[in-house]
Amino acid sequence: LEKAFSFMLRIRVPGGVSTSEQWLQTDRLADTYANGTIKLTTRQAFQLHGIIKSNLKRTIKEINDAAMDTIAACGDVNRNVMCNPNPYLSSVHADVLQAAKDISAHLTPATRAYHEIWLDGEKVQSTEEEVEPIYGKTYLPRKFKITIAVPPSNDVDIFANCLSFIAIVEDGKLVGYNVAVGGGMGSTHGNEATYPRIADVIGFCTKEQVVDVAEKVVLVQRDFGDRTDRKHSRFKYTVDDHGPEWILAKLNEYLGYKLGPVRPYVFADNGDRFGWVEDETGDSHYTLFVEGGRVLDTEGYPMRTGLREIAKIHDGDFRLTANQNLMIAKVSPAKRSQIEALLEKYGMAKSHEQSALRLSTIACVALPTCALALAEAERFLPTIVTQLEEKLEEVGLRHDSITMRMTGCPNGCGRPFISEIGFVGFGPDRYNVYLGGGHAGERLSKLFRKDVPSKDIKPLLDPILEHYAKERLDGEHFGDFVIRAGYVAATVQGPDFHKN
Ligand code: SF4
Repeated sequence: LEKAFSFMLRIRVPGGVSTSEQWLQTDRLADTYANGTIKLTTRQAFQLHGIIKSNLKRTIKEINDAAMDTIAACGDVNRNVMCNPNPYLSSVHADVLQAAKDISAHLTPATRAYHEIWLDGEKVQSTEEEVEPIYGKTYLPRKFKITIAVPPSNDVDIFANCLSFIAIVEDGKLVGYNVAVGGGMGSTHGNEATYPRIADVIGFCTKEQVVDVAEKVVLVQRDFGDRTDRKHSRFKYTVDDHGPEWILAKLNEYLGYKLGPVRPYVFADNGDRFGWVEDETGDSHYTLFVEGGRVLDTEGYPMRTGLREIAKIHDGDFRLTANQNLMIAKVSPAKRSQIEALLEKYGMAKSHEQSALRLSTIACVALPTCALALAEAERFLPTIVTQLEEKLEEVGLRHDSITMRMTGCPNGCGRPFISEIGFVGFGPDRYNVYLGGGHAGERLSKLFRKDVPSKDIKPLLDPILEHYAKERLDGEHFGDFVIRAGYVAATVQGPDFHKN
């Protein structure tokens, strides 16, 4: 008798934008084959959990029938291309979303193996060179992650990704992108040769060049990434080993033209803006807080049912945010009152009436789903938030956003090393606690305490929150304060991460 294997499926959603029909199909599959929930990931994808082995192929086929796929949602290739769901500048969002889709399509493996294995496609005879023009015979040394952000929002965390494009908007129009290379989160406990790294912004390209630049950066990693040591094979180490200047020179050589000088940009934060906003076209967008990115029905809060009812009438789209929340986007004036009524009916109209701390959290899936997890994350972070909220209320910090993230292991899928407070699983019910990340995700944090039992987290952090409330400077963020107050030293770049 075979063991009862169950699987997770990650559905690729380029730019994080799903149609209502795709939402409805994902919702249906969650019931039919998975555990009745949908996980919105930190990389703007859907995950379905608990799919039993005998249903795997059928589920993938039905995902494909819904015009979605799981191609390159895993493996040593480019993953889901993320894109800022900025609702304020609709025309710019349309441009950057198209760029995300174009990059995603261009870098999707050309192999027919996926279709042959999962969709009963016919075997196609071809040479390997014809099959993989970009990845070649050996693919990439490791996975590769790309994002696009529209300042002032850094919600996709451009500094934590292998390659990012920062949209440069002049006179309301997109003119091109700054190019950032070499970010990444993953590390291994006890191995100081591994570390998270902040991306370097190395140049500027026009919007017409963006796909070409993405391809050539991938080629640089394909040709110069470390294939001898998997723990040193991410692009961030290639950038560190050779230096950003060398990467720029090599990129210019591969491109056959030079990137321009970096253009000015400012990021204000990496969080989401909740509730309704109206854009310049008159359409509205509603951002719903989804704690831990888990869409499900619970007693008293039938969120999944409510979203299903909205999807049945919504003719705009759904945008998954990189903070695991959900935007019901492009709501026309004619539909807004109907959607408002459904938000009210299903208890979602006040989803964001929470402490600013809770609204600024991210948790990876961790236990029981992820085999790499050393500790809880999604199921436990809400408890920690509740504990800390007592102190926040007492010292008047309820409305102050402090980014706080928890992951079950140092792979860092929830990007904990650039949050102002980070918890990384160290063992069952024990966490490493990191402080001092930048509020806009622009600076790495530093280890504050190692191997902390979960019951000691509140006593550890309460006095620091109180200190912050009393002595912060005007406008000073928590991550900056803990450095100024001497709790941790600032981490300048990845190699400093382990130095105190
Ligand atoms: Fe799993 Fe670790 Fe990623 Fe969390 S951070 S989802 S525990 S691999």
